[in-house]
Amino acid sequence: MIITEQKPLEEILEMLKPFKRIFIIGCGTCATTCQTGGEEQVKEMAEKLKREGKVVTGTVVVESPCDARLLRRDTRKAKVEIRDAEAILCMACGAGVQTVVEHLEKITVPCLDTKFIGETERIGRFYERCRACGECILFETGGICPVTRCPKGMMNGPCGGMYDGKCEVGGYTRDCVWVLIYKRMKELGMLDIYKSLKSPRDYTKLGIQPREVIWV
Ligand code: SF4
Ligand code: SF4
Repeated sequence: MIITEQKPLEEILEMLKPFKRIFIIGCGTCATTCQTGGEEQVKEMAEKLKREGKVVTGTVVVESPCDARLLRRDTRKAKVEIRDAEAILCMACGAGVQTVVEHLEKITVPCLDTKFIGETERIGRFYERCRACGECILFETGGICPVTRCPKGMMNGPCGGMYDGKCEVGGYTRDCVWVLIYKRMKELGMLDIYKSLKSPRDYTKLGIQPREVIWV
């Protein structure tokens, strides 16, 4: 899931300063789970904007605003209200905001900060789990990602900074991810793979340009 956090209201109002008439788009998927851009938060934001003297021409929670097909489908009924607005306030991740900009061709203000791809333990407790490196090695690491969870991005570990199972980065407060990988792989009976030397990352997989995946 894409983890998001709502920006401070002052920052949102600063971006909306030149605009009086606002249409709000929420996200029915990740931002709903994060409680940053679901039905309830969209309603609350509309009230806040009204109190600040804005006119909210309408609101819609799109199932997944980062999916152009769903964005088109779910905004169809609100065409007039969107046209009537000077700007859209988008309560979705950065991918959602950019899909809105591209397809609705309207000034769009991002309401959320996109933090990371993560695991949800419960609402408000999220853990970063993937950096979308383009070359997943989870099979070789017992399903624990060192690219994301080792502060040095070590491909073979632990490094010399590990002490008593803890990571030196941050002052030995967190488990060394390579110790976690070792323990997991031992449980799985996969220590032979753990012991094999992993190749350096191929950073060309990250790409210089924004990445695309096209299935033909
Ligand atoms: S190795 Fe880590 S960062 Fe790369 S795709 Fe797998 S989980 Fe994501
Ligand atoms: S102690 Fe472990 S988690 Fe910390 S930098 Fe070294 S290998 Fe990575």
